[in-house]
Amino acid sequence: MFKSEELLERLLCFFFPSRCIFCGKVLPPMSLECNGCQTTVKRISEPVCILCGCEKKDCCCKKRRYFHKGIVAPLYYEDKVRRAFKIFKFQDNTVAARLLGEMMAGTAKKYYANIKFDVITYVPMTRKKLRQRGYNQSELLAKETAKHLQLKVEGTLLSKIYENDIQHDLNSYLRSGNIIGVYDVPEPELIKGKTILLCDDIKTTGETLNECAKMLILNGASEVWCLVGALTRRRRAGSKIGD
Ligand SMILES: [Zn+2]
Ligand SMILES: [Zn+2]
Repeated sequence: MFKSEELLERLLCFFFPSRCIFCGKVLPPMSLECNGCQTTVKRISEPVCILCGCEKKDCCCKKRRYFHKGIVAPLYYEDKVRRAFKIFKFQDNTVAARLLGEMMAGTAKKYYANIKFDVITYVPMTRKKLRQRGYNQSELLAKETAKHLQLKVEGTLLSKIYENDIQHDLNSYLRSGNIIGVYDVPEPELIKGKTILLCDDIKTTGETLNECAKMLILNGASEVWCLVGALTRRRRAGSKIGD
């Protein structure tokens, strides 16, 4: 016999089957991704460069210093993972949030095992953008991740004061200038001396996370470590990507 919650979930799955976020295949009840994708979708695996989150063989971050102490992610933002994030962003897919949150929590447990976090927070949206979309995907991921890490999510540590131009529309030298002053820490006393786990959905240049970490550190946080759902890897001259 099933427990009542499990039975309800099975019934819901029967009438509204979930689909694998990576390939779209209908999933059996209680599963979050299909067996095929579980083995074929590339996971970022050890050894990892903690500064940029890439596998060491893909790292080309040149060990630049950031305000955050590290970045880790379970996935590279490529191939089927891109599809998963599109669905997640534009269809309010709770299965996607659950799966990605579970993967992110696993990644944090692996690489941040010795860090005692006080709180989880996430990259905020402006109020206007939040009203338009109805939810913040980074918040959903932070909440799902927090369930597995037994940590509290604080949504008010950072705020986004105004909209900047979309990062990927800009040349890289404009990106860091584009983001300065966009985020604020409304109540610095909430973060004094705290070790913070900062969540976001996708990291491309890392400027957003660095700016958020900068604001947290300048306002008194002790340490900021980042956790994202997926990150882009850059091609190094002569390197092959696609394993
Ligand atoms: Zn699949
Ligand atoms: Zn690196």
